[in-house]
Amino acid sequence: MADTIMVAGGAGYIGSHMVHQLIEEGYDVVIVDNLSTGHRRAVNPKARFYEGDTRDLDFLNQVFERENIQAVIHMDAFSIVPESVKNPLKYFDNNVIGMVKLFEAMQQHAIHYLIFSSTAATFGQPKKTPVADSAPQEPINPYGESKLMMEQMMKWVDQAYGIKSVALRYFNAAGALEDGSIGEDHNPETHLIPIILRTAMGEQDTLKIYGNDYNTPDGTNVRDYVHIIDLAQAHILALKYLQAGNPSDAFNLGSSTGFSVQEIVAAAREVTQKPIPAEFAPRRGGDPDTLVADSSRAKKVLGWKPKYDNIHDIIQTAWTWKQKHPQGYQDK
Ligand code: NAD
Ligand code: UDP
Repeated sequence: MADTIMVAGGAGYIGSHMVHQLIEEGYDVVIVDNLSTGHRRAVNPKARFYEGDTRDLDFLNQVFERENIQAVIHMDAFSIVPESVKNPLKYFDNNVIGMVKLFEAMQQHAIHYLIFSSTAATFGQPKKTPVADSAPQEPINPYGESKLMMEQMMKWVDQAYGIKSVALRYFNAAGALEDGSIGEDHNPETHLIPIILRTAMGEQDTLKIYGNDYNTPDGTNVRDYVHIIDLAQAHILALKYLQAGNPSDAFNLGSSTGFSVQEIVAAAREVTQKPIPAEFAPRRGGDPDTLVADSSRAKKVLGWKPKYDNIHDIIQTAWTWKQKHPQGYQDK
């Protein structure tokens, strides 16, 4: 029988693609989500959905009692950096306490494997690029700090209870399922590519490029955009890696190619064939110059082979979703 995997946060952007990919590969899937930032319409009808909060131990225990879960993919979190700076306790409460409760329920039900959505934000302002898995983790905002605390919790929980885990530190998640049936719909939207595509659709007049005086070739921030289906694939490989008896570990996931904000705008103009007006605006605050992943260990140890190595293809998948669902899940 197929393994049953719990995806906590499975109604969110990355979670909904994770659920899709697990089902494609024959897994049985249970979704836990409180719909705080996720969407009921993003819930895959082939999965069993439990609406509730990961901070609620009674709720989690009920799910683990009803379902025969072999592993947990832990994607639920708050993840808006400026909000975390204004309201850090909201982030420590949701992200860190949520993980404490999840581990308590897993321990009580003898569930041995967890794959965790970590982030490049745990590195802060890295001194070296590309960023290796072993680079110093010095977060510069409460969101990154909460995720680093969660990574550290994983180490001690493994030592005490033998729950094995892999932290996957995504750089910039981007794109959508190719058929445009699910995609990115955050409210408020803060991510570059969906905001560019909103501008392409004429929903806003001008894209604001936050800062052109960074220490990069064209002065705008350089980021590493990785397709979410490639991310989802890495989770399945990480799960197999743990189930094969390997030790807990952490890996950086990116495409290993950096693009400046201006390069992303230029690529989006080519994909959409729209003018996409853009203007320079002051720095947003808290943005490191350059964030590019060194994903060589994920490739070597997990056997990860990202499929999307062309930024135009990645943007095209996001554009297909946007054209089919201009108002996101409201249009579904
Ligand atoms: P998202 O907001 O779309 O998804 C998060 C999901 O978790 C939502 O469906 C939300 O309703 C749910 N959720 C939040 N708190 C919950 C709780 N306490 N109980 C139950 N459900 C809860 O975000 P996303 O962009 O899909 O990100 C998914 C994960 O990946 C997050 O952990 C985020 O920190 C991490 N991450 C994202 C990126 C990115 O570029 N989007 C990069 C690095 C890491
Ligand atoms: N950005 C921008 N205008 C926007 C949104 C984002 O110039 O409207 C820039 C942002 O400053 C950063 C890059 O685009 O340099 C990627 O931002 P995003 O929020 O997508 O991801 P982050 O790198 O912050 O995780």
